[in-house]
Parts: sequence; C-alpha cells; structure tokens
Amino acid sequence: MRSYERSKTAYEEAVKLMPGGVNSPVRAFKSVGMTPIFMARGQGAKIYDIDGNEYIDYVLSWGPLILGHANPQVVEALKRVAEQGTSFGAPTLLENELAKLVIERVPSVEIVRMVNSGTEATMSALRLARGYTKRNKIMKFEGSYHGHGDSLLIKAGSGVATLGLPDSPGVPESVAQHTITVPYNDLDSVRYAFERFGEDIAAVIVEPVAGNMGVVPPVPGFLEGLREVTKQYGALLIFDEVMTGFRVDYHCAQGYYGIEPDLTCLGKVIGGGLPVGAYGGKAEIMELVAPSGPVYQAGTLSGNPLAMTAGYETLRQLTPETYEELGRKAARLADGLHQAAEKYDIPHTINRAGSMIGFFFTNEPVVNYELFAAYYREMANEGIFLPPSQFEGLFLSTAHSDDDIEYTIAAAERVFARLRG
Ligand code: PMP
Repeated sequence: MRSYERSKTAYEEAVKLMPGGVNSPVRAFKSVGMTPIFMARGQGAKIYDIDGNEYIDYVLSWGPLILGHANPQVVEALKRVAEQGTSFGAPTLLENELAKLVIERVPSVEIVRMVNSGTEATMSALRLARGYTKRNKIMKFEGSYHGHGDSLLIKAGSGVATLGLPDSPGVPESVAQHTITVPYNDLDSVRYAFERFGEDIAAVIVEPVAGNMGVVPPVPGFLEGLREVTKQYGALLIFDEVMTGFRVDYHCAQGYYGIEPDLTCLGKVIGGGLPVGAYGGKAEIMELVAPSGPVYQAGTLSGNPLAMTAGYETLRQLTPETYEELGRKAARLADGLHQAAEKYDIPHTINRAGSMIGFFFTNEPVVNYELFAAYYREMANEGIFLPPSQFEGLFLSTAHSDDDIEYTIAAAERVFARLRG
C-alpha cells in the first residue's frame, strides 16, 4: 500500500489553520474515507504528492488544465509576463487578446467581462439578468452547481451534494425565495413553473451539460425548449459554461448543441490554471454593465496579466482537432471502464460529453457511496488520481497518452477484481 504519511502530518497542521484543513470543500476527501492528499507538483498528465506518490491525474484542478500540468508554452509566457510586473489596475493589451479569442470562439458572445472565478461570473450574470429584465426570480436545476453565490446555493450539486449538505445556512430566506429549482432535463416542470411565475422570472441558468451531478448530458430538445420558453416569457437564458466552456468543444457546449443563450458564464479552461472567470453575451445586454451601464460589477485583479496570459496561451493551443483527439481518448477510457465494470458485474452508469466523463456506481437513481469510497482508495493506490466524489466528472488533457489510458483501464480492472474478490 502507498504511504500518505507526509500528507497526514500536513493535514493535522492544516485543520488548525483552515476550516476542515482546506480552502475548498471538495478537497477534503471526506466521502472517500481519506484525509486530503497534499500535492507537490505536476507535469503533463502526471501529478506527484508530497510523499512522492505519482498519479495519472483525471482531476486536472477540477477541469482547467486541458493541456495538462506545467504546459511549456504556458509556463514560458507566464515567466516572461511576470518579469514585467504582475498587476497594474489599468488595462493591458493582454485583456484585448483573450477577449478577442473568446468572442471569436463562443458563438453567442459579442462582449465579454473578465472576472476572477466561476462564482463571480454566475453571480454577475444573474445581477445583469435581473437588471436587464427588472425581475427578481431565477430558475436553476436541482443538482446543478453554479458557484457559491447566495441565489445559487439552493439544491446545489458538486461539493454540496458530496457532503450531503442541506441548503446553506447564511442564505437569507428573502434571497432564497427568489430561486426556483426544477429537475434537470424536465421541460414539463420548467413550463409549469413559467406558467405560475413567468412574469417574474429574470433568467434560467443551466449547465448545458450537467457536470456537477456526474456528467449528465441534456436530453434532445431540453436546451431547445429552454431557449423557446425563455424567449416566450421575456426571460434570459444563461448558459453556465464554467465547466463545459472550451472543454467539450472548440465552440463550447453552445456551439456543440447549436443553441445560443443570451448570456454565457466561463471559468476553468479560460484561465488555463490561473484564477479567471468571464461572462459575456449580446452587446445590447452587456452594455448595461458598468461603466457603460448602471449594473455594477468590478474587480481589483480582474483581467490580471498573468491570468490573461495563462488563458490566452492555453486557448491558442486548442484547435478543433484537439477536441476530436480528446474525444477519441475519452471514448476509449469510458468504454474501457465500462467493459472492466461489466466483467466483474459492478453496477454502474457511465456518461460522457467530449472529454468529461461521469462514472456512478449504480444503474439506479441511488448511488453506492461505500463501493465508490473503496474503489477510490484502491485506484489512488494504483496511481490514478480521481475526483473524490461520484458527483464530479473526470477530465482528460492533451497530455494524457494512449498508454496512460490503457494503464488506467487495466488498473480499474484489477481494482474491480479485488472489490469482487
Ligand atoms: N459553475 C460551474 C458549472 C462549475 O462547475 C463551477 C465550479 N466547479 C462553478 C460555476 C464555480 O466556479 P469557481 O469554483 O471558479 O467559483
């Protein structure tokens, strides 16, 4: 068995310093019966912990690192830019460069505002939607995660679901009452809610592929239906592409599914591993944002030169062919995991959207936590770093080789055999 001694010692110190010893709950490894694994470095598809254990990394910082760790072009550019100073509080040319790439590639985005996280992007997009429509209510889907903004922490997925938490204390009832939640992929519920509250709904916010409840693709007609009903009632359609943006397709999920939302939220890949978020959309709506309009939103470090550089150098290396190749590798991994699980009679559901894979230990609605926890620990021992929750997707990078994938499938097969034996 691998040793995690140094991680355990580091964690003992960390719990006295930070809530739960971590700066984000999904890093706690609680639901898989482990303490956090502290990482030391990453290179390509590999990640190394402070005990010297090597892993093939399918977390990739929870999605951003589509080129793998320490991509040489990204690192070189970051060094060059850092030497010129790290923040100015005034515009730089780098902001124009990244904005141009985003506007070029995301079909519905004409104007974009950079922020520092996905959470900021969704919070700001909601404020803008409310300001634009002069309505208060928003609609979201159960099990979706849109960051930790007050209005959006209702029936959320991701870490909220992993830790089995109810809606968060600290969100005032007066805020929560404006959030309507309906089941994902259920257009009838959406229509019903619009019939009741339609005149008060500012926006529907949706993950075009639900990545925070185990990668659930939209059923045919769902996104089309959302586009139609929002238009009918004068509400905005917001695609939260923080996870799917530049991940599932060169033109993001909206390009892949051919649906144009009014506003789009971005994060993760757009920052290439540095803190970046963005929201954008039709000029007519975006021009309401300060200073061109009255909807206030600002940021000391927004458009930060290092963050813009990591994003730009990452997006620049991505081509439509990159996504074909990533899709091919992800399909092989998904198929290999499926075959391995079948062979040992492990009940499971596997979903894939581009290079995002969801893997649940169940073929029914209830997930098996114990089986997942055992699988997780065994896979870590085999040198495979997975997201420590069934609600989170696996990600691939261009740095994952065919050998990495075959090794992973073989490891899963060994683990399934042990779990059954
Ligand atoms: N929206 C989606 C779809 C996400 O997956 C996430 C993060 N996993 C967020 C928003 C929040 O982004 P951040 O963690 O950068 O605030």
